[in-house]
Amino acid sequence: MSSFSDLRAKRKTKEVGSFLRAGGTSQFATTNDPISPIADAGSESLVPTETKSVSANSSLYRCLPLSVDIRVNLEDGRGIWAKKAFVAGDILFITKPHVHVLSTRNLELFCSSCTSSAPEGGLKRCTLCRVVWYCSTQCQNNDWSVHKKECDALQRWAAGAPSLDVAIPAEPIRCLGRLLWMKQKKKATSVWAKEIEAMQSHRTSLPPEAVEGHTHLAHAVVRYLGVNAPGELGAFGIQTAADIVDVVSRFTTNSLTLTTPSLTPLGIAVSPPFALINHSCDPNAVVVFPRASNDSRAQEPLMHVVAIRDIAPDEEIFTAYIDTTLPKPLRQIALRTAYNFECKCTLCNNEVPRDDPREAVDCPRSCGGTCPLPTEEDSPLRCIKCKAAVSTRGAIIDALRVGQEGLDKATALQISDTPKALQLTTNLLPILEGAKILPSSHPRLALMRLHQSLLLASFPVTPTQDALDNIVRTTAACVSALTAVLRAGHPIRALACAELGRLLAVDEPAPDVSRGKSVFPPSGPVRLRLAYDTLVQARSELLIGFGARNEGGEVGREVREMVVRIEKELEVWTQRMKDVMQDTPKPKGSKSLGR
Ligand SMILES: [Zn+2]
Ligand SMILES: [Zn+2]
Ligand SMILES: [Zn+2]
Ligand SMILES: [Zn+2]
Repeated sequence: MSSFSDLRAKRKTKEVGSFLRAGGTSQFATTNDPISPIADAGSESLVPTETKSVSANSSLYRCLPLSVDIRVNLEDGRGIWAKKAFVAGDILFITKPHVHVLSTRNLELFCSSCTSSAPEGGLKRCTLCRVVWYCSTQCQNNDWSVHKKECDALQRWAAGAPSLDVAIPAEPIRCLGRLLWMKQKKKATSVWAKEIEAMQSHRTSLPPEAVEGHTHLAHAVVRYLGVNAPGELGAFGIQTAADIVDVVSRFTTNSLTLTTPSLTPLGIAVSPPFALINHSCDPNAVVVFPRASNDSRAQEPLMHVVAIRDIAPDEEIFTAYIDTTLPKPLRQIALRTAYNFECKCTLCNNEVPRDDPREAVDCPRSCGGTCPLPTEEDSPLRCIKCKAAVSTRGAIIDALRVGQEGLDKATALQISDTPKALQLTTNLLPILEGAKILPSSHPRLALMRLHQSLLLASFPVTPTQDALDNIVRTTAACVSALTAVLRAGHPIRALACAELGRLLAVDEPAPDVSRGKSVFPPSGPVRLRLAYDTLVQARSELLIGFGARNEGGEVGREVREMVVRIEKELEVWTQRMKDVMQDTPKPKGSKSLGR
């Protein structure tokens, strides 16, 4: 049975949530440029036609299997297409990112080379720079060809840093440093370098404030590289100031979040083959780092692109760059700001379905129907099903505003002041509930997920039954809301379900077996049965989201072990029940005692 100290320890290394990750997005989510139809560099000249296949004559992207294809069309530019049928849970391709770095707060907690967490004996630190840590001498050796340059740069940077909190450069600077040293090592003519060059740069199409940010980052990178004269940049294939801004722009719009097998953000990575995949708010594939048992540890981190629904031959493969639990207006803003494009996916293109669970309130007569969330200028609101008029429009609009403000505040405070953040989510959730905003609608869902992770973070060392039941209820509410907006097998949904099963399986401090069946969560053997069913469900979803061949990745394998363990426990219960039944004379009218 997993203890809460385990859960708490896990939580400590995570930004939000245990298996769960509120928001599900980051400023370094993945992208390529789905707008500009012409790829801008590299050895290929990709002239868009209706849909043109380019993989046949390409020497790049050799990690892509024959079952997929790079094609170009006028709408979205380059994309990856299926050449054969895939089923949900199939792995489309596996590749190691060209470059990856841990975020600064994770440097001491994970191996900088294979990104695994500390082994039994702990991680070992590089004694020269004292910044990066490794799980083994093998990992240190594997990393040395690039780290020797990085090591010098880190020492130089620390020596020149005005204060301790800036003694380690931020991860984009470190990632770009590695990218340039690796490019230098592999030579500009290598496939590796050409694949990097072939990623889209937005330098010429970005708004001025973004260009300013890139220029700023470019300056920091030049300083980090220890370049004294502009001419020295030639060694990295950089001839002009525009070149370095191009490198930065290519990096910022194409980097992706490096995660643990349970989607906790670890750092950033750059993967040119992955950058070819276009975005959809209803994606047919996801990117995960599942740590498949057959992958060698030294090869990690390995990125798996997995189908989360069946894909037909000649269908384009899409992943989501942003949190797809958000309603359309917020998705559009997120995509425009970070990636500079207007999404025309199936979910955005259709008139928003009038009953989108991402943006709805309950029927005032509770007929089972819903009404779309009001906006300031809307005409009177009515339930789609029974047409009952909603008279609380003002209260709903207020709740939405207060909820969003509170969500922003609590998100900002979640690590620095967890109790205060928890106080906020605790106070706000009843307001949104009172306004009848659906649990799956924004911002109620986001607040609930944050609330869940905050509860987990502040869970008492010696848990009380109340605290345990409370977190089980909150997690169950998250699972049910996520079920309304994400496909079965979506990794976020699968992990939420696994988390619920895990919590239900935690030993109860004060089981109350007399608790009625209608009370949630139940107690005693009924609860254990529910834990079992939930974990079985979680496992079937993990097998999709993290790859069937991977057995659902590290979490999938963990869940399978729990299922086996609970099965045994349930057998013991059943046996005990049988024994009791045999020893006790049956009261009249009773049929059976549980299972
Ligand atoms: Zn390692
Ligand atoms: Zn070092
Ligand atoms: Zn969309
Ligand atoms: Zn109604």
